[in-house]
Amino acid sequence: MYASVIVDIAHSSVDKIFEYSCTDEVKVGCRVKVPFGGRIIDGFVIGTGEECSVPPQKVKPVYSVYAEPPALVGECFSLMELISLRYRVPKAAALRLFVPSEMRLGKVHEAYYNVAALINGDIALPASAKKQAQVLQYLKERGECELSVLAEKFGRNAVNSLRDKGAVAIEKRQKKRNPLSGAESDVPKTLTPAQSAAIENIENSNKQIHLIHGVTGSGKTEIYLNIIARAIACGKTAIFLVPEISLTPQMLAQLRARFKGEAAILHSGLSAGERFDEWWRLRSGEAKIAVGARSAIFAPLENLGAIIIDEEHDSSYVSESAPRYSTVDIAAWRAKYNDCKLILGSATPSVESYLKATEGEYNLITLPERINKRPLPEIIIADMRKEVRRGNNSAFSAALREQLSLTLESGNQAIIFLNRRGYSQTVICRDCGYVAKCRNCDVTLTYHSDENALKCHYCGARYRMLEACPECGGRHIIYSGTGTQRVVAGLKELFPAARILRMDNDTVSGKDGHYKILSEFASHKADILVGTQMIAKGHDFPAVTLVGILDADMSLHFADYRSGERTFQLITQVSGRSGRAGAPGKVVLQTYSPENYILRYATAYNYTGFFENEKEIRKATNFPPYAIICRVMVTSEDEQGALAALKEVYFACEELKATYPAEFIFLNRMHSPIKRIQGKHRFQVLMRLKTGRLLPRIYDIAVNNTSANVLCYVEENPGNLS
Ligand code: ADP
Ligand code: ZN
Repeated sequence: MYASVIVDIAHSSVDKIFEYSCTDEVKVGCRVKVPFGGRIIDGFVIGTGEECSVPPQKVKPVYSVYAEPPALVGECFSLMELISLRYRVPKAAALRLFVPSEMRLGKVHEAYYNVAALINGDIALPASAKKQAQVLQYLKERGECELSVLAEKFGRNAVNSLRDKGAVAIEKRQKKRNPLSGAESDVPKTLTPAQSAAIENIENSNKQIHLIHGVTGSGKTEIYLNIIARAIACGKTAIFLVPEISLTPQMLAQLRARFKGEAAILHSGLSAGERFDEWWRLRSGEAKIAVGARSAIFAPLENLGAIIIDEEHDSSYVSESAPRYSTVDIAAWRAKYNDCKLILGSATPSVESYLKATEGEYNLITLPERINKRPLPEIIIADMRKEVRRGNNSAFSAALREQLSLTLESGNQAIIFLNRRGYSQTVICRDCGYVAKCRNCDVTLTYHSDENALKCHYCGARYRMLEACPECGGRHIIYSGTGTQRVVAGLKELFPAARILRMDNDTVSGKDGHYKILSEFASHKADILVGTQMIAKGHDFPAVTLVGILDADMSLHFADYRSGERTFQLITQVSGRSGRAGAPGKVVLQTYSPENYILRYATAYNYTGFFENEKEIRKATNFPPYAIICRVMVTSEDEQGALAALKEVYFACEELKATYPAEFIFLNRMHSPIKRIQGKHRFQVLMRLKTGRLLPRIYDIAVNNTSANVLCYVEENPGNLS
């Protein structure tokens, strides 16, 4: 027998299928070790057969087979082909997406534990064997117990003696590190007519992809859970994707309560062991629902009945490392392969998705009202220019202060949102205008008061706080901008009795840092939560009746064609945290440009108005979805090498432009806005294309100019152009 193997080396020079002879122990989807170029390396078996395309005497045998069921399901191979073609990555790189890295690197294995079980409780014990009698009694009440627990309570010797007497058996069992164990139950809610209609609409539509545009609090989650339950009832499986940040304790508890062991979660907050076990639970069929962030789209499930992508507009659905795939594209492929529905949901769909829905490519379902007709929160606009004129130089408008004290008096909770992190943005010398920048990255440093240090947010480098200006020696160093820490300090001054929590990248280090903060806030151990983007999404805190947005227009000023869209999304999402349960909510939106049309549509909850307007602008200015922004990044530690490659890439693109002039709206080469990150020089060829027709050619150009020294890669409509 022969096996077709893809060796686990993601390099274009070995991007081929290799043949090895094997025994019938080797099955399609297995991981194997094979001899390759004088070494023994890992590989994936993608096919087996009796025939071989090379002379048999040239074929080497498979070295060994992993003692585990086949890791890859059949669908992986067709997806592998698609991904490798579409994003120009070696097949091995595509296959890696389907197995957890813990497994590939061999760092994690099954965990075992020992159980002591009672087999004969009637043996006679001498009166002196008190501990043994206690163990026996303990086991009579329980039947069995984990050995480590028994040993801790009564000593290992007592247990061993009982085993020697034949009273107790010790068994080794595989440990399931199941993060969803310990389930309470919940019953599905009775659907509202709007929810039922939405589900019926999806079931009866003959379209494959559905977009649910439902305002915040319109009960989308219950619709998703219902669709998943239906798939499971038909003997199928389901994938449920949410942004990493929305995998909150409440959300996980809800899933655990509804689906028990049928749901497996895959996310970065789990230990490697937990992730490994959850993955195998899915692969073995024990669990049928994969819940997770972006990468869970590669869950090892067969016979999919539904794929759900919540908050579909979220930028985390585009991978930022190779292969730079779009989760929606992969999901659409899997939906097609399995002939199942793909459901996208959002209160603020991306312009791209909504356009597809209005043009009939997606089935559009609209939920314009909150559950139980709860009102959407009233948005009060605070014009910060007037505040400054009135002499208020603090971060809080009069309206926000008033609403905050009303909220605190009534015993409710408030969320204060701002767009930045750190105590303040930048450190500036008032005498000469010097701004502190990172030596590696050429970006402005941020002051962190808790460490009295300056930090680079791109590479993490840490610098001592300046006492004098390194340029002119001046001692007038000031901080500019407002960060979460300064806001907390300001709030403490205004409301000394209030309990305040802060959530940003600095406070949420570690495995479950942000869970802790969110659980604390959810259980009302604090009155005010101050945070950045992280608190914008998906959380359901019933007691929150006020949301303050400190710098609503911050994101309007980013140099990005999507800044209007992002701002609209942010305001809608953050506002959506207010007044979700009992009392009606309020939002105070502070801005320096209250007349801006994005803010006007956002405060009126007018998504379609925003969309129509935005669509016209994008069309007129030739921006996505009416064009594709394509960037070929060229990076290297060697500046000359990078420049030489940049030239080659640029000339190749120019040649394309000469042949297909109508495809190009823009083409140029330049330094990337951040000239260096982690010691690597960054250059780019930037283009705007009418269609995606030339993308495969551009991917080829990037691959052809990548060398040991210089990395070239393509980004399509990149989330940020830094
Ligand atoms: P969305 O995801 O659209 O923002 P959620 O799914 O979080 O909205 O629902 C908002 C609130 O309404 C939640 O507190 C949820 O428990 C509640 N809810 C959802 N569906 C129902 C229903 N059918 N009956 C009663 N309450 C519901
Ligand atoms: Zn840096």
